[in-house]
Amino acid sequence: MEKTTENLLVWYAKHKRNLPWRESTNPYQIWLSEIILQQTRVDQGTAYYLRFISAFPTVFDLAKADEESVLKLWQGLGYYSRARNLRFAAQMVVEKFNGQFPASYDLLLTLKGVGPYTAAAIASIAFNVPVPVVDGNVFRVISRLMASDLPIDRPSGLKFTREQMLQMIPAHEPGNFNQAVMELGAMVCKPVNPDCNGCPIQTQCLAHASKSTSNLPVKAGKQKVTPLNIRYAMVIFKDQIVVRLRSEKGIWQGLYDFPELNFKQDEMGCLQEAETLFGTKMTLLKRSSTFTHLLSHRRISADVCVFHAEQVPITSADCQLIALSALATLPVPRLIEKMLPLAENLI
Ligand code: SF4
Repeated sequence: MEKTTENLLVWYAKHKRNLPWRESTNPYQIWLSEIILQQTRVDQGTAYYLRFISAFPTVFDLAKADEESVLKLWQGLGYYSRARNLRFAAQMVVEKFNGQFPASYDLLLTLKGVGPYTAAAIASIAFNVPVPVVDGNVFRVISRLMASDLPIDRPSGLKFTREQMLQMIPAHEPGNFNQAVMELGAMVCKPVNPDCNGCPIQTQCLAHASKSTSNLPVKAGKQKVTPLNIRYAMVIFKDQIVVRLRSEKGIWQGLYDFPELNFKQDEMGCLQEAETLFGTKMTLLKRSSTFTHLLSHRRISADVCVFHAEQVPITSADCQLIALSALATLPVPRLIEKMLPLAENLI
C-alpha cells in the first residue's frame, strides 16, 4: 500500500492539471470549486469559478450578496438549488463560524449543500485531515486496483472503497492523495480504454494483472421489485397451533412462519384445502385483512385464514404443533410478527 501511495503522490505532483483552485488551500476557494464542479465538466466549471471568485473574493462577500446576483452568475450551470445553498452556506460560515470554515469533517457536513464528498475534500485539502473522498473516479480506481467486484452502488462497495482509501491515505498529504486518486481516475484510469501503460500504479493493480479492467467497477443497478402474494393458514387445535420451520435456503432460513394455502381461492376453497392438508374437519374462524411487507426485491401481500381443527392436525415434516403460549418465543420474520396478535387473541 505504501508503494501505491508514494507512486500516486509522485505522479500527481508531476502530472496534475493546473486548475485555479489548486494553487490554494483556502477552504473558501476549495469549497466554491467543489460545489461548482458537481455535475459540471472541469472546463465549463473553471470559467464559472473564476467569475465567482472575481465577484465574491471572500466568504463575507458571498454571504452579503443578494440571491438574484448569485443566481445570475450561476446561470447556465443548472441545479439552481446549489446556487441558493451556496449563498446560504456562506451566511452560515459568517454567522456561526465568524467567517472561518470549520476544520472538522463533521462540522463541515452541517453546512447547507455540503455532503460527505465535499466535506472530505475541504477537510483534507484545506486542513490536512486524513479523511478519504469517494466519488465516481475513486470508485473506479479502487475497484480496479483491488480487482473488487463489490457493487459500487451498494453499501458494501462504498464501505470497501472507504476502507481501502483509509489504509492508503497518508497523514502528511491527505489532500494531495485524495486529489491524486481522483485525477488518476479522470486522466488515466478512465471508464473506457484506461491508459494502463502510463499508469503509476500499474504494477500494484490487480485488475491489470488479471486482465479484468474492462469488467470493473461493477454496478448492481436497480433491483426489480416483484410482487408476491401469500395466504397463510393458522391452524389451532385446543391451545396449540401449527407452525412451519423455514429450512430452505433464503433470507428466512431458520425462522418460523405458518403453512401456506393457495392465495387465489375463496374462503370455501381455502377451508377444503386446509382440511385435506391437515386430515381433519375444520372451522374457518376468520380471514385477516392484507398485511404488506417490503423486502429489497419483493413486495409481499399476505393474509391469514385462522382455522379451528376438530382433531389433531396431521403435520408434514417441516411443520409442528406447539403451544400457543410458546408462539411469541419463536424467531419469526417481521411479517409474521405483525400477524401474531391474531393468534394471541385466541389464547
Ligand atoms: S493499471 Fe490500468 S486499470 Fe489499473 S489503476 Fe492503472 S489505469 Fe486503472
